[in-house]
Amino acid sequence: MIKQFTDSLSQKDKTLRQLYRFIYEYGPISKVDLIDLTGLKQTTCTRLIDELLSHKLIFEAGFGESSGGRKPILYKIKPDTYYVFGIDISRTYTKLLLMDLNLHLLKEERLSLNQTTTPDVIVAFLVSKITELMEKKSLTKDLVLGIGIGSIGPLNRDDGILLDPVDVPSPGWEKIPIKDMLEKQLGIDVFIDYGVNTALLAEYQLTSFNMYQNIVYVIKGVGTRTGMIMDGNLTRGSDKLGRYGQGHMIINVHGKKCICGSYGCVHAYSSIPAIVEEVINLLKEGRDSILRERVSQIEQVHFDHICQAVNEGDPLCSQVIKDAAYYAGIGLSNVINVLHPELIILGGPTYTNMELFYETVKETALMKNKIMYPNHEIVINRGNLGENATSIGAGSLVLGHYLPN
Ligand SMILES: [Zn+2]
Repeated sequence: MIKQFTDSLSQKDKTLRQLYRFIYEYGPISKVDLIDLTGLKQTTCTRLIDELLSHKLIFEAGFGESSGGRKPILYKIKPDTYYVFGIDISRTYTKLLLMDLNLHLLKEERLSLNQTTTPDVIVAFLVSKITELMEKKSLTKDLVLGIGIGSIGPLNRDDGILLDPVDVPSPGWEKIPIKDMLEKQLGIDVFIDYGVNTALLAEYQLTSFNMYQNIVYVIKGVGTRTGMIMDGNLTRGSDKLGRYGQGHMIINVHGKKCICGSYGCVHAYSSIPAIVEEVINLLKEGRDSILRERVSQIEQVHFDHICQAVNEGDPLCSQVIKDAAYYAGIGLSNVINVLHPELIILGGPTYTNMELFYETVKETALMKNKIMYPNHEIVINRGNLGENATSIGAGSLVLGHYLPN
């Protein structure tokens, strides 16, 4: 029925969709308030509400406050009439969430990425888990509204193609038609956007962060991805591919060579590969660390080893992380200088796995901001939705298609 709203050209279906959208957004809501919002005549509104009730898309959710007469009936959408899948494809894991229409989590699956997790392996994982979850919940294709993907880039969003992401641990990441691959195998519509954008939209649309109009979201892991909401709108820039981020902002003009060919980029100091490389170099120089007991060969040191060592207070790893975070904080202060956001959300494995990294970046950026703009208040935190923000936002992409504002 929701799909019918979108495909239909009839005015009645459009009005029905608008009414449903208002109940979705403002429910529990009374008929009087719906008439106020939509401008519909009372008889039309009653008829359309009855139609939504008969299709079990909404239900009567109790009574509101009386303004003199009888207490008004309140309406809410039925969240279990349809379902959506949200997928997060990052460089360290792929995550799949099954959600109801309120984007409440029903089931979660996760695949860590390594040298063997090629795009084909990831697609096979997604197809098998989606099929399995649908069978377990007895969901037919008709009951799944769609599959949303928040992905690393660059992307051709219109055609759903993952172009040529760098720094992915496995081979074969060139022109992956992921939308086509999933649609052909599952027979369900797929929608795709940048993961940092879906995470940002989820935090903005679904949490108390809708009080802010200027937000920057940074996901820092193997790469550094940046999303922006400016004046309440998601900002994409002029590059259709959206090949931008904060990773290659130069913070040290005579600095280290970066993978992009330039020198002194944020990426060269504070990305996961840069952090791992620095720790390995220091161990090779003979510096002491508990990591020597954890790996048989120095080259085997992995980011997870470093996180654990930092959280156990290892001095060598802690110093490397503090230095990396200082550079990341300088980069972030440059972002603040240009954009003056009210809120910055920091996500991704570097921020979620290490308190020291997060706190150092935050302290550095706030300190620089205080010097430049003593009266500009800025909030920096790790968001309300945590690691699931990207996949929840991916589910929201599907809803946005069928129920546009
Ligand atoms: Zn660079």
